[in-house]
Amino acid sequence: MAQKQDDKKVTPRSEDFAAWYNDICLRAELADYSPVRGCIVFRPDGFAIWEALRDELDKRIKKTGARNAYFPLFIPKSFLEKEAEHVEGFAPEVAVVTHGGGKELEEPLIVRPTSETIINHMFSQWIRSHRDLPMMLNQWANVVRWEMRTRMFLRTTEFLWQEGHTAHATREEAERETLTILEMYRKFVEEFLAIPLIVGRKSAAERFPGAVETYTIEGLMGDGRALQCGTSHFLGQNFSKSFETRYLDDQNQMQFVWQTSWGVSTRLLGAIVMAHGDDQGLRLPPAVASTQAVIVPIWRKADEGEKVMAAARAMLDSLEQANIRARLDTREGLTPGFKFNDWEMRGVPVRIEIGPRDVASGEAVLARRDKSGPDAKSKASMTTIAETVSAMLAEIQTSLYAQAKTAMVANTRKFDDYDAFKKHMEGEGGGGFANIYWCGNPACETRIREETKATCRAIPLEQHTQPGKCLVCGEPAAERAFFAKSY
Ligand SMILES: [Zn+2]
Repeated sequence: MAQKQDDKKVTPRSEDFAAWYNDICLRAELADYSPVRGCIVFRPDGFAIWEALRDELDKRIKKTGARNAYFPLFIPKSFLEKEAEHVEGFAPEVAVVTHGGGKELEEPLIVRPTSETIINHMFSQWIRSHRDLPMMLNQWANVVRWEMRTRMFLRTTEFLWQEGHTAHATREEAERETLTILEMYRKFVEEFLAIPLIVGRKSAAERFPGAVETYTIEGLMGDGRALQCGTSHFLGQNFSKSFETRYLDDQNQMQFVWQTSWGVSTRLLGAIVMAHGDDQGLRLPPAVASTQAVIVPIWRKADEGEKVMAAARAMLDSLEQANIRARLDTREGLTPGFKFNDWEMRGVPVRIEIGPRDVASGEAVLARRDKSGPDAKSKASMTTIAETVSAMLAEIQTSLYAQAKTAMVANTRKFDDYDAFKKHMEGEGGGGFANIYWCGNPACETRIREETKATCRAIPLEQHTQPGKCLVCGEPAAERAFFAKSY
């Protein structure tokens, strides 16, 4: 069997995390570079992960009461300019359309970087009285933010996401909605993507342009850098005042609505790769894996082949009947070893090996992707294969979360001395979350960023701590915050 097995070696994760990450995205066929700089192509294996998480998240979003709608890709340029902080935040990365149909446009259009403005424009026409509230919409869409330095999934000029937008009669209701969504996101990412998170609010410097308060879920990646996995914003009345989004209350008084917006994006694909992947490739949580179990038949002689294939097909049937997303690797001219490596690279949670001796004994060999060495392999009876694989998939989902959680806990440190913190951040492998007292003064935050490259990732909502002293300036600090280098 002529084949090249070593021509596509992946950079070891410990050697160069960034190169490893790119290798995995390309080799596992999640994405490819596009002819347009900063944009990527989602390949079917990558898009299938997005579809799986989109379908699940869509259900959870609808449970909160929001319904899906779709707004145009183009937004009049003047809309962006109505909210001062919003335009300041987004103007540098906005793509502007000046020509259409061979003519210069009277008013340039922007390609949406986010849709608060156009949605508020419509809300101002749809919302008349308190009976129209709350108005809760979600949109699955692409957005464009002109990025100078791009990385697959993490930072691309065009990306896919969902953006929720809600309008409420009272401040309390909008604040509650912001936190309801934050908790919905946390559960979704921890349960479905098996990525443990820290949760909290952002500092003013890290806030969404135009928001009163931004809340975040932050994961820790395999190299010790944090990744913002989703945000939920309390917008107050900033947009409703700019767009005159008002309602008549039950006293017949005109009131501005209180608003929220919230989103997660295809960046979550990058989070899955970086939180779970290893030197052998991707490790997919079973919940998002488009192939949860792959059967690799092994034989040499033709008469063995018939028996092995028949048993493999029967096994595929019983797996599919149990709603396991399974496939049979019938590719010819490839050694079993090559196939094993290939499926490991693609992150398939369970591999089932079946050869002539297995057929004779009525058993198959299972190899689970969340473990390595002898621990990864076990035998299973063919008659109960579906039950065994189902149970194993559930275990793998839990075990990937536990492994990532162990790594996060090991990489979260408390610091009460600025020099020690600085030394740690500068040092070899100086990553992870630093849990520190911060007075809240932006000057201290800036100093940390300039001297260590770490930024404030989240200030936990529940502070199980006594007031202390700011790590930087020594002034009283009421809260502890998580700082880290981030993507
Ligand atoms: Zn301070």
